Amino acid sequence: MDKRADQLHVYFLPMMAPGHMIPLVDMARQFSRHGVKVTIITTPLNATKFSKTIQKDRELGSDISIRTTEFPCKEAGLPEGCENLASTTSSEMTMKFIKALYLFEQPVEQFMKEDHPDCLIVGTFFAWAVDVAAKLGIPRLAFNGTGLLPMCAYHCLMEHKPHLKVESETEEFIIPGLPDTIKMSRSKLSQHWTDEKETPMTAMVKDFMRAERTSYGAIVNSFYELEPNYVQHFRKVVGRKVWHVGPVSLCNKDNEDKSQRGQDSSLCEQKCLDWLNTKEPKSVIYICFGSMSIFSSDQLLEIATALEASDQQFIWVVRQNTTNEEQDKWMPEGFEEKLNGRGLIIKGWAPQVLILDHEATGGFVTHCGWNSLLEGVSAGVPMVTWPLSAEQFFNEKLLVEILKIGVPVGVQAWSQRTDSRVPINRENIQIAVTKLMVGQEAEEMRGRADALGNSAKMAVEKGGSSDNSLISLLEELRMGKSSSN
Ligand code: UDP
Repeated sequence: MDKRADQLHVYFLPMMAPGHMIPLVDMARQFSRHGVKVTIITTPLNATKFSKTIQKDRELGSDISIRTTEFPCKEAGLPEGCENLASTTSSEMTMKFIKALYLFEQPVEQFMKEDHPDCLIVGTFFAWAVDVAAKLGIPRLAFNGTGLLPMCAYHCLMEHKPHLKVESETEEFIIPGLPDTIKMSRSKLSQHWTDEKETPMTAMVKDFMRAERTSYGAIVNSFYELEPNYVQHFRKVVGRKVWHVGPVSLCNKDNEDKSQRGQDSSLCEQKCLDWLNTKEPKSVIYICFGSMSIFSSDQLLEIATALEASDQQFIWVVRQNTTNEEQDKWMPEGFEEKLNGRGLIIKGWAPQVLILDHEATGGFVTHCGWNSLLEGVSAGVPMVTWPLSAEQFFNEKLLVEILKIGVPVGVQAWSQRTDSRVPINRENIQIAVTKLMVGQEAEEMRGRADALGNSAKMAVEKGGSSDNSLISLLEELRMGKSSSN
């Protein structure tokens, strides 16, 4: 038989936000290394963030390409060039952005009619993709960017509604039916869980959930050994198919791939490596709060003061609102000079995986975004947990209470993206950072993190749990393809 006729063709449509695009592009590359023809659909500006990497994979023999369609900025009432969720600066813009994703249905359907892919792997926010895949008679796999613990927790919240049975925002409740006793409070959940009236946001969330439920199955950037009880719970109790194929970031083997991930970094890769190379193993803390968060000047000042007092060496990624005239005003007098080589500040985008994987890095202060969590786990480093929003409070539970490789900084409530409050003071930050890096408890956490890092690496190797999961998915897709021919 003609090899080409037998070859699977998988379409990837990542939601245009770094926390979704970065892992889905890595996943697409993993598929192509297993002989699958891969097409990634995105917009022209987003394509520039990973086109170099894809070109390199093509030169190495992968059958992977990008198809672009314009982002409907004008129709959506967004400024020209606002093609990524990270470019939105207010909740109104975010709503417009999410609504604009509905306008991709027609061009994507047209592409699919031309290319006849065998499967569509798509971000949660493209709810309409369920119907397009059904029309074309192919499976749609949902990728929502998180792990299985939060997915199971959301399912239980919907089923049992424990958050509606408490008296206040801060009263704790147990999420019924989960494999572990996980306590939550309403203040740590998105407002749409407690909105009494239907808002445009709650209506969209319902649509996304319907799309997830009616998809062929879920594909997650996770690995069995990280959350085995939740893999089983998802299959048996939530009752949906799932394939765990992560950590996908581990497909980036060399420094060039690691540093180009997401976008070019603000501080050149070599400067970072040169600085890290002068440090002792496991002696540096890396501090980064993902791709979306923008901290107030007051909060930045608290972090700076705590780091100065902590005596620890660090790399700190600082992102400020570019429209903010207060740029750098948060910095304590003579901060950078006083550090005298003890700390490196990266303003903008950091080569995160490159830094985490360096032997000098011994701890990570993270907002607990799922990708950051997995990248920290893969690098074998314990973490200070500082959740901000989304499902990050569940991820904190996984790190602190289940895996026991996290020290909570003590966040009690969801924050908006550009929050002006000072939720965490310098003393709490300093205590958490010291606990992470110094003493017996730190040593024990490091041992557990190291072991988990090894199992993460094994999971994606030949014969590992994630590699096997990907192979079984591809077999199932091939069977579906041959039975429909
Ligand atoms: N990231 C990066 N450099 C930065 C900030 C973020 O490489 O300066 C990457 C990080 O490695 C991760 C992704 O961006 O892969 C962020 O995803 P995550 O789920 O952690 O958080 P989100 O940005 O979605 O809140």
